[in-house]
Amino acid sequence: MPNHHQGGCRCGAARYEIDLSGAHTLICHCDDCRQHIGAPFSVFTVVPSAQFHWLKKPEGRVTFSQRAARLFCERCGTYLKWEGVDSSDEAEINAMTLDTPALVTADEEIFTRSRQPWIKAVSGIPQFEAGRN
Ligand SMILES: [Zn+2]
Ligand SMILES: [Zn+2]
Repeated sequence: MPNHHQGGCRCGAARYEIDLSGAHTLICHCDDCRQHIGAPFSVFTVVPSAQFHWLKKPEGRVTFSQRAARLFCERCGTYLKWEGVDSSDEAEINAMTLDTPALVTADEEIFTRSRQPWIKAVSGIPQFEAGRN
C-alpha cells in the first residue's frame, strides 16, 4: 500500500515525493556527513529508487569520494540526497528534509567508530563500526 509523503529543502527550491513503504532509516556518524551538514550525525532513509521522484530537482552536486555524489540545494544549502555509484536502485534521502520527519525512526547506526563521545547509542537497534557492507 503506497505511503506517499513529500519533503524538500529549507527555501523550497527543491522538492520531492517519496513512498515510505518499507523504508529503512540509518543514523550515520561518518566524517563526510558530519562535515557536510555541520551536525554530529546525519539521518537518512533508504527506499527503492522507484519510490522516489523529484518535483523540483536541486542543482547542487558535490563528491567527496569516487563512491557517491551528494545533491543539495544551491540556493539554501540543504543536503537532500546521497547517490552511490553502486546503489542506483536505491534512493537515500536526508530524512530530516521530510515535511514530517517523525514518520521515520532509526533502524540502525553506522560509522559508530566516529560517533561523538557525548552521544549515546540508540538502544535496541544494530550498531555498526563502519558502513553497511
Ligand atoms: Zn533550498
Ligand atoms: Zn555518513
